[in-house]
Amino acid sequence: MIKADVHVHSSFSTDSETAMENQVKAAIAAGVNVLCFTDHIDYDYPESGTVYDFNVAEYQREIERLREIYRKKIEILMGVELGMQKHLGGCYKKLLDDYPFDFSIGSQHLVGGHDPFFSAVFEGRTDREVYREYFEDLLEDVRLFHSFDCLGHLDYVVRYGRHRAREYSYRAYADIIDEILKLLIRYNIAIEINTAGLRKMIGFPNPHPLVLKRYREMGGTLVTIGSDAHKMAHVSCQFDEAVNILRSCGFTHYAYYVKRKPKFVKI
Ligand SMILES: [Zn+2]
Ligand SMILES: [Zn+2]
Repeated sequence: MIKADVHVHSSFSTDSETAMENQVKAAIAAGVNVLCFTDHIDYDYPESGTVYDFNVAEYQREIERLREIYRKKIEILMGVELGMQKHLGGCYKKLLDDYPFDFSIGSQHLVGGHDPFFSAVFEGRTDREVYREYFEDLLEDVRLFHSFDCLGHLDYVVRYGRHRAREYSYRAYADIIDEILKLLIRYNIAIEINTAGLRKMIGFPNPHPLVLKRYREMGGTLVTIGSDAHKMAHVSCQFDEAVNILRSCGFTHYAYYVKRKPKFVKI
């Protein structure tokens, strides 16, 4: 039985201190047999001079080294999480062409040019206004750039709202979310179920199951499972719950990507 966690960070990401090898050990201990590293590249990240970038050649060497050591226990894949902004499509396309990535996640980490992780975005505005702007930005970014494999944590912004999910429901933003889902299906982009939302006490994964259900109803079949672990303890966290949610949303398989092509796991 394959258990594939395809959204995991290591110390190649600016916001993680966990050595790649420790994430591999944590994954093996948790019964994961396919692990995809998706460290952050967020070109032109706007907050406080933080740079989310790393040396991809070094990253590739470390992945190949670990792949060799642990090959009997786990399949290790090379992915990346790209922070989307309107002007970055060309740079990301080149990056994906230049290196042999197995998998790429496109993630919207900004709203109106700022990361909602920092509460300034919410000052003087309702959660509802910020969430709407976030989905509008995301829709525009997917329109402009869609050469990635999977859309990460579609409703990321809700993790950071003043009242979290109180002003959020799929229905309240269905007009924009449906447009985003249409584009994913048109461009053959997978949607991710990101279990970090469950850990962060919003009580559901990102996106909300009703969004996943809607994607399935519209004909989407490509879904990946990611823990978004930055620490060992979070690798494959709430994986079984994610599988149950996918089943209840009408999915029969989830996917992981090798050389940017999906492989399907029956659930
Ligand atoms: Zn992310
Ligand atoms: Zn991530």
